[in-house]
Amino acid sequence: MTVFEEMGRRDHEQLVFCHDEATGLKAIIAIHNTTLGPALGGCRMWQYEKEEDALRDVLRLSRGMTYKSAAAGLNLGGGKAVIIGDSKSMKSEALFRSYGRFVQSLAGRYITAEDVGTSVRDMEWVRNETDHVTGISRALGGSGDPSPFTALGVVMGMKAALKWQTGSESLSGKKVAVQGVGHVGFHLVKHLVEGGAQVTVCDIDQDNLKKVTGAFNGIEVVAPDDIYGVDCDVFAPNALGAVVNDDTIPQFKCSIVAGSANNVLAVEEIHAPALKERGILYAPDYVINAGGLINVANELEGYNQDRATNQVSSIYDICTDIFRIAENEGITSQKAANTLAERRIQAMGRIKHTYTGVQLKKRQKTMP
Ligand code: NAD
Repeated sequence: MTVFEEMGRRDHEQLVFCHDEATGLKAIIAIHNTTLGPALGGCRMWQYEKEEDALRDVLRLSRGMTYKSAAAGLNLGGGKAVIIGDSKSMKSEALFRSYGRFVQSLAGRYITAEDVGTSVRDMEWVRNETDHVTGISRALGGSGDPSPFTALGVVMGMKAALKWQTGSESLSGKKVAVQGVGHVGFHLVKHLVEGGAQVTVCDIDQDNLKKVTGAFNGIEVVAPDDIYGVDCDVFAPNALGAVVNDDTIPQFKCSIVAGSANNVLAVEEIHAPALKERGILYAPDYVINAGGLINVANELEGYNQDRATNQVSSIYDICTDIFRIAENEGITSQKAANTLAERRIQAMGRIKHTYTGVQLKKRQKTMP
């Protein structure tokens, strides 16, 4: 493998290797595509076994961000960063500030945020060295915890799927099986209960289960392995990836899969068609779980909760567009989501060919 071969495989624009002996920083920043705007994506800290693993991960994840932002209607491109190291033992203010200086050196082509292994506190260190960081705490004027917004986006996508399939978006009386009641799952259950749905949950964490059953009445609890076979309208995965697979699909009694978990389909090319064949409508994961990203992107314009809430609600219309493309073109909803994102990037790339004569003041505006 050569670096340029790997970049060429998914058409990446730029890779930046960052090294600082004094702080132990070893990081890679990948910028996949900036047609729509600066590349936004979190910074993951992980003890990769091999440098190659870190490189593959950052290339894969940054491309995913291009699609996620494009489908969400954001004027942002796709990027991601990885810091190679143990997030439990290697973190320090100096390491994150050193990382922040590399981010700053990219002059806004890449905007960083927290991700697996990094926290809001780490990003506050980063913020000392760069303007190009988002996902800061509310106390510092940022957007705070993204989970309630992710949950809102999931509910909007779920309603769009119900409307598409049944003609009514109402949650009243609908049976929803929720896998995982952590940060997103808890807020999702709240929306579902308020909407009059009958909710069944599972979790491996007893404390999280107690929290949700203590907060809301009428919640049924099943064992983690039994959640796939629950007789329901919607299966909402909010825990792990790859839970739609050869073992689980035959157990499904739902007619919709819609949840926040990333990479829900074990193998996209196999399990998206498998759901379609069984008449199960799939709300693509990176579209329906974009509420947190939309919220964080809002911070770039000066955070406003009402505006963020409105923009997250547009996930309903985006999902409807995707279901329409899938039906019209006879493709899976997953493929339709990719198509929607690619068409938007192509279309916006084309309009930039026209010379306007004036350099617009840089803004991170999102579509209405
Ligand atoms: P979380 O860690 O707070 O919650 C996950 C929950 O799933 C935990 O309660 C955990 O105990 C439970 N769980 C783990 N394994 C399980 C199993 N086998 N069966 C049942 N429950 C299990 O995470 P979160 O922030 O709520 O995120 C949930 C999912 O959504 C993750 O996949 C995450 O990547 C994705 N996501 C989250 C956000 C966000 O804003 N937090 C945004 C986009 C995507």
